[in-house]
Amino acid sequence: MKQLKRIKGTQDALPEKTMQWQALEKHIRRNMALFNFREIRTPVFEMTEVFARGIGQFTDIVSKEMYTFQDRSKKSLTLKPEMTAPVMRAYMENSLYAQAPLQKLYYIAPLFRQENPQAGRLRQFHQYGAEFIGSPAPEADVETIVLALHIFEELGLTNVRLRINTVGDPESREPYKLLLQDYLKHNIPNPEPQVAERIANNPLRVLDSKDEKLREVIAGAPKLVDHLKEKAAEHYRSVKTQLESAGVSYSEDPTLVRGLDYYTHTVFEITSDALGAQNALCGGGRYDLLARQLGGRDFPAVGFAAGMERILMALESQGKSLARPAVPDVFLITMGEAARATMTSWLAKLRRAGLSADADFLGRSVKAQFREANRSGTRFSLILGEDELNQKFFAVKDMKNSTQENVPFDSLTNYLLQKKESLTV
Ligand code: AMP
Repeated sequence: MKQLKRIKGTQDALPEKTMQWQALEKHIRRNMALFNFREIRTPVFEMTEVFARGIGQFTDIVSKEMYTFQDRSKKSLTLKPEMTAPVMRAYMENSLYAQAPLQKLYYIAPLFRQENPQAGRLRQFHQYGAEFIGSPAPEADVETIVLALHIFEELGLTNVRLRINTVGDPESREPYKLLLQDYLKHNIPNPEPQVAERIANNPLRVLDSKDEKLREVIAGAPKLVDHLKEKAAEHYRSVKTQLESAGVSYSEDPTLVRGLDYYTHTVFEITSDALGAQNALCGGGRYDLLARQLGGRDFPAVGFAAGMERILMALESQGKSLARPAVPDVFLITMGEAARATMTSWLAKLRRAGLSADADFLGRSVKAQFREANRSGTRFSLILGEDELNQKFFAVKDMKNSTQENVPFDSLTNYLLQKKESLTV
């Protein structure tokens, strides 16, 4: 029978890699707590409408990339392709607004998009992100951007760049869309079907096209920043002033629109030079329109999402590791039947004392057991043979210095705990 393989665009995280994942998650949780964000977890699937209505039908995610299926009761369900819509759905469904006017929420979650797999682009990938719900103030945008940058900075990621833009409010955007549509129609005489569709349905999306020929046309297109109504212009000005006073460097990019329909006002992206073509680490923005699109009342909000695989790739390319491989504190080596019969109870005793302990489970020769102890990376091997058993002591071998000491059964755990402490300080 053919041996089965994983699904294209998915990854197995093997033990060396899960160490990095765990360390990254710990880092995220610690820094989210510094900013007083609290974790939220939502189901891995949702009613398809949460995304169709939330993200918008004409976006790539909804029109091409979602894993959507019918369950047995013919309901249309979707594996979540992003977290902002589910978090807002959960926020409203659980009336979190009744607990406090402001909610600072964060998440760490797997997401699913049927994209063409390539380096840094997967079909199951992982994001952490923050959603700051309840404040329309530019200060909330700045708090969110500063948080996103803080996490990267503390990770030691270098060459991280922040680009910002505004997609305005509906009062600014709707008339601008018509202006842009008009410009694009006149300047792209024979658009490819996908471009024509975007011009018709979502003209802002044409602005972030990667097509070289289109880029020239786009460079001359009217800019939304030049057509903002006063309220939107003031919001954007305030965000920029506050970023400057916080000492955050950024560049403005009038073609940055982000893929999703729910954004209003500030949008931003953080990229890393350490990555290749897929250089975006994190994207975010304000999304005051989402709550209403999901059938609720208005809740102003701002957030970001960062790709964890890409962060690990960027760290790796900088030669940075977040965690050292875990090794057992001790490895138990037994010689002879009688000693071997005590293996399980010794392991239990060591572990109860808080020492990580391992042993041989193949009944191998002493030589092979030493080889295994070496491979495990442990600092101490505990040797128990007939003599040791009779006289109630262990020969404790320091694998690094190749020194050996006899330690009575009674004082073994204390001896090892002291050694361990002196090694960690
Ligand atoms: P988005 O939700 O599309 O704004 O993406 C936010 C971040 O998630 C990006 O900046 C990437 O770091 C990451 N990301 C998005 N799509 C993928 C994917 N298919 N594979 C891996 N990472 C992704």
